[in-house]
Amino acid sequence: MPITDPEKLRIVQERVFIKKVCRNCGALNSIRATKCRRCHSRNLRIKKKELPAKKA
Ligand SMILES: [Zn+2]
Repeated sequence: MPITDPEKLRIVQERVFIKKVCRNCGALNSIRATKCRRCHSRNLRIKKKELPAKKA
């Protein structure tokens, strides 16, 4: 489902991409997570694309 509305796209990117992904099991965690909520690994990477600004 393609999203063409730039405003929606921005919101989606914020919701979807500002996450951390576990390198161990691939689960998505919140950006503030220090451990994976699924396997409790600390091997997380930030899944953040093309949106440099973080909204408070
Ligand atoms: Zn994990």
